[in-house]
Amino acid sequence: MTAPRLEIDLGKLRHNARTLVERLQTRGIAVTGVTKAVCGSAEIANVMLAAGVNGLGDSRVENIAAMRRLRVPGPITLIRSPMISQADVVVRCAETSFNTELDVVAALSTAAAQAGRVHGIVLMVELGDLREGIMPADLEGVARQVHRMRNVQLRGIGTNLACQSGVTPTMENMAELSALTRSVEAALGAALQIVSGGNSANLEWALGRADPDRVNDLRLGESILLGCDPLNRSPIAGLYTDAITLAAEIIEFKVKPSQPWGKIAQTAFGSRPRAADRGSKSRAILAAGIQDADPEGLTGPPGIEILGASSDHLILDVGEASLRVGSEVSFRPNYSALVRAMTSPFVAKFVRHEDAGRQLVKAIELPIAS
Ligand SMILES: *Cc1c(COP(=O)(O)O)cnc(C)c1O
Repeated sequence: MTAPRLEIDLGKLRHNARTLVERLQTRGIAVTGVTKAVCGSAEIANVMLAAGVNGLGDSRVENIAAMRRLRVPGPITLIRSPMISQADVVVRCAETSFNTELDVVAALSTAAAQAGRVHGIVLMVELGDLREGIMPADLEGVARQVHRMRNVQLRGIGTNLACQSGVTPTMENMAELSALTRSVEAALGAALQIVSGGNSANLEWALGRADPDRVNDLRLGESILLGCDPLNRSPIAGLYTDAITLAAEIIEFKVKPSQPWGKIAQTAFGSRPRAADRGSKSRAILAAGIQDADPEGLTGPPGIEILGASSDHLILDVGEASLRVGSEVSFRPNYSALVRAMTSPFVAKFVRHEDAGRQLVKAIELPIAS
């Protein structure tokens, strides 16, 4: 079979999405399913929608355009601030976008007027993680200006934590988001539909004892796809952590010493700490490398250790595993390894359908190439 290849189990993804939707429903919070780590795969987007997410979010307008071409139903939000140069395509493809700059909203307003549309705006507010966001003191003023612009509608506010600086969603910063919601509503004399509290890192807060108050939406990618909590990368109870796996094929299998010999200088990618002497070990080389996945983000079967990687080789200590040239090893990717593999043209993408005898069907093409 084609290798390296991602195998995506749609049944497990559906279970993960539905479980999170149901848990958050009890807290009055809806889910926006985030498809950016799977290149806006229409198949995965449709599974998320069937599992009860309210809408979809992606950071790349190219992915959103691909979903539209494949007739994915349901509202789609661009969750990265649009480029002014893409304003036209943004208003044609996405119902709503996340914004932090008035110049961008003005360009969206012009583009929406030309297209005869009304584009939704969610203003992102900075609550300390120092990636995107309007400073809280400036939010009311920006909201007033957006409220006055033609062909855009201020639909809500949102924030994003735990990305750039690892700032954790807490009772305090989430209460601040609710308070900001009320002050913007008072300033405009209009209700905000969407209060989007954050990403998968918000789950612990959302499912804990804190009152979600005005927060009524979370944008979930990693927790649905990988079943883990990005705050500490621990598995979330009741979710599959192996819905997506990466298989690669062995091209060399030999017993070799655990230490290199000869005069040692830099490796292909800088220096590497000297290996301990553990005697002779069974080593396998897989036909996959840093062009295919982030090797640091791969977890193999028990007893198999990744010793290193170059562009096209992944070197394993296979322990006692009985493997041979031509056989395959499967890994669970973390977010970084998943993103690399999804965007690598060298990695085939297969989905496992719930019907069709759960067999593998090659399914996903990169939107940029299609
Ligand atoms: C990527 C992203 C998300 C989804 O984050 P996960 O940790 O994958 O759930 C949500 N919101 C924004 C703005 C993002 O960029």
